[in-house]
Amino acid sequence: NKTENQMLIIFGASGDLTARKLVPALFNLFRDGHVPDNFVVLGVSRSNLTDEAFRKKVVLESEYLKNKATVKDFGLIENFSKNLFYEDLGENYDTSYSSLAERIGDLNIEFSIGNNYIFYLSTPPSLFEAISKNLTEQGLNDETEGFKRLIVEKPFGYDLETAKNLNKGIQKYFKESQIYRIDHYLGKETVQNLLVTRFANSIFEPLWNRNYIHHVEITNAESNGVELRGGYYDNSGALRDMFQNHLLQIVSLIVMEPPIAANAQEIRNEKVKALRSLRIMKDEKTLNENTIRAQYVSSKINGEVVKGYREEKDVNPESKTETYAAIKFFVDNWRWKDVPFYVRTAKRMPTKVTEVVIHFKSPHHQIFQDSGMLNKANKLIIRIQPDEGILIKFGVKVPGQGFKVERANLDFYYSSLQETHVMEAYERLLLDAMQGDATLYARADEVEAAWAFVDPILDYWKNGKDVRVHGYSAGAWGPKNADELIEGIGTWRNPSEN
Ligand code: NAP
Repeated sequence: NKTENQMLIIFGASGDLTARKLVPALFNLFRDGHVPDNFVVLGVSRSNLTDEAFRKKVVLESEYLKNKATVKDFGLIENFSKNLFYEDLGENYDTSYSSLAERIGDLNIEFSIGNNYIFYLSTPPSLFEAISKNLTEQGLNDETEGFKRLIVEKPFGYDLETAKNLNKGIQKYFKESQIYRIDHYLGKETVQNLLVTRFANSIFEPLWNRNYIHHVEITNAESNGVELRGGYYDNSGALRDMFQNHLLQIVSLIVMEPPIAANAQEIRNEKVKALRSLRIMKDEKTLNENTIRAQYVSSKINGEVVKGYREEKDVNPESKTETYAAIKFFVDNWRWKDVPFYVRTAKRMPTKVTEVVIHFKSPHHQIFQDSGMLNKANKLIIRIQPDEGILIKFGVKVPGQGFKVERANLDFYYSSLQETHVMEAYERLLLDAMQGDATLYARADEVEAAWAFVDPILDYWKNGKDVRVHGYSAGAWGPKNADELIEGIGTWRNPSEN
C-alpha cells in the first residue's frame, strides 16, 4: 500500500506512551522505509517544550530508543529526529488551538504534506471530545483537501454508557470512517494470525464448531503486580483493563464466521456479529455461577516476600477491585451452541503468557486404553505471547507392543521465521492508520457490543448480594474457586507445561 505524505499530530506528547511506545514505533517505521518521503510528527501537550527539547526527550536522549538502537541506527536516529516538532497548548485555551492550527498549516506548506493529518489522542479519554471539538472549530476535521484521521487510545469507556457517550462525543465531529480506536492486541501478529489459521486453511475450519470442539480456554497471565499503576488500576480492574477489550477481541476472532473478504468492513461486521452473540448473563444465579473475581495476597516468590494487592501503593486497603477474573460463558449461535468458553486474566501469576487453547472432543468411540495422556492430546494451542506460535498436541503410538498412546507436539514458532522482522503492535497499527486501513481498529458498534456483555458482570460485582472477592497467593495460578468453575469439563491448562 502507498503511504501518502502526511503529518502525525500527537496529543499528550509529553506523556509516557509517546516516549515509550509511539516514537520508538515511528522510528522503526522510518528505519525500515515505511514512512513517506515527507513525514512530520508534531507533538502537542500543555508542557512548555521547544522542538529541540522534545527531540531530546523522546528521541536523542530517550532510553526507549537508545537501548534498542544498533550502532548503525545512530545516524538514522538523528535524521529521524529532524521530522519531529512540538507545539504547546499554553495557558490560554481560547487562542491555543488557533496557534496550533497555524503551526500545522505552516508545517503543511513547508513539507508539502498535502493536508493529510492524523491526530493521535494519547491523553486521558476525558479530553477526547474536547480535542475533537477544538480541532473541528479550526476546520481540521475537513477532508475536502487531504485526509483527516483520529486515533484514540484506550480505555474506551468505563462501562457501556460511558463508551456510548464517548462515541457520540467524538462522532459529533469526526465521521466513523475517520475514527481509529486502538486495541494494541490487534496489532500483534499472532492475533492477526488467528484469522489466517482459520480461513486460509481447510484443515481447521471444518472442525471449528460445536461438533468437534469441547471447550475453548483463554489465559492471559502477567507475572507482575500493579507496580506504579495502583491508582489507575484500582479504579479499573482486570475485567475493564484486559477482558472487555483485548480478550474479547481475541474471542471475536475465534467465534466469528468467515468474512466474505479480508477488508475492514467485512471483518469488523463479522466480529460485531460474534460479540453480539455472546450470551449476556442477566440473573444473579448465572452471574454467581459463572464469574470469579479475586485479588492476590502477599506471598513469597522465589524466597522474596511480595506485597498483596491491598498493600500496593495507591490502592485502597479495602479495595474490592479484581486482579484476577475468570469468566465462563456461552455463544448463542448455530456454530457454538453449548460450547463453553473459559477466559481468565490476572496479575501476579507464575508466568507471563497469553494463549488460546482449543480443546477438541474425544473420538466418539475410544478404542485405546486411556493412559491419562489422551486427555492431554487433541488440542490446538495458539500462543499470543511470549514465544508466539502454534502448537498442536495429538496422540501417537508408543513404539513397542500393544497400543499405548503418548502425547506428541507439533510446534511452530514465529521466531523461526528469522528473516522476517516481526513488527511490534504499535508499528503495525500506526502504519495501517497511515495507509487508511482500519481493519485492526475497533469500530464503535464493536466496542459497545463488548461493553454490553461486560456491563452486567461489573454491575453484579459492584452491587450483587454477597459477591465475594477471593484471594490467591501472589505467584500462584489463581484462587481454588476458579478450579471449580471448570470442574466437570476439565482443568485449566498450565501454560508453563509444554
Ligand atoms: P500520561 O503520561 O498521563 O500522559 C497524558 C498526556 O496528556 C500528558 O503528556 C499530558 O501532558 C497530556 N495532556 C493533559 N491534558 C492535555 C490537554 N488538555 N491537551 C493535550 N495534552 C494534554 O498518559 P500516558 O501513559 O502517556 O497514556 C496516554 C493515553 O494512552 C491514555 O489514554 C492511557 O490510558 C493510554 N494508554 C497508555 C498506556 C501506557 O502504557 N502508558 C497503555 C495503554 C493505553 P501535559 O501535562 O504536558 O499537557
